Amino acid sequence: MSGIAHNLQAVRARIGHARAVTLLAVSKGQGIERIKDAVAAGQKAFGENYVQEAVQKMQQLPPLEWHLIGPLQSNKTRVAAERFDWVQTVASEKIARRLSEQRPAHLAPLNVLIQVNVSGEASKSGIGAAQARGLAAVIAGLPRLRLRGLMAIPEPGADRARYACARDVFEELKSEFGCDTLSMGMTDDMELAIAEGATMVRIGTAIFGERKKREAA
Ligand SMILES: *Cc1c(COP(=O)(O)O)cnc(C)c1O
Repeated sequence: MSGIAHNLQAVRARIGHARAVTLLAVSKGQGIERIKDAVAAGQKAFGENYVQEAVQKMQQLPPLEWHLIGPLQSNKTRVAAERFDWVQTVASEKIARRLSEQRPAHLAPLNVLIQVNVSGEASKSGIGAAQARGLAAVIAGLPRLRLRGLMAIPEPGADRARYACARDVFEELKSEFGCDTLSMGMTDDMELAIAEGATMVRIGTAIFGERKKREAA
């Protein structure tokens, strides 16, 4: 068994079987061979932070399910709408409208998550919990997007209330819009996130080991 296959098995064991939780393998900073190892071990959904890096990898791999989990600037929405299956970091009406307009007609509607900021001052990414409902209503009305739920990145060491806040907003979106996905939890906090209701965890280090630091642009 390759190291990555072994790591995937260990992460799946950490997720456990109590409830269905989707494992997203975060492959940013990892080379093609390592992603292929994960694919060979049965992994199908991958998360990337940078649009260009992801597109280069997509061109060298069989069809997989790709999630954008890094911040999205408006000059990259077209490529994101054309190439990804999910965008997890939608935090403004402007970006949502562009993605809907730019999603090609021959593809299924783009799955989107609203990135909600549950860490207050500690993070500048994401929309406040109080604004998330309004943005959800806008997205639900856009023809080429499919609102699936929320994504949150509680800061390291955040207390449970941060996770519970994301879960509360998610529960509202679930009953109002039929959402099914709360993407929350990384290598260091996946057990806590699952205990607090995550339906998807985004795991990089525990699968692939330490990654190369991105060189400054
Ligand atoms: C890098 C990253 C991850 C994975 O983090 P690990 O600690 O390596 O598991 C998950 N989510 C987001 C948004 C990331 O940027």
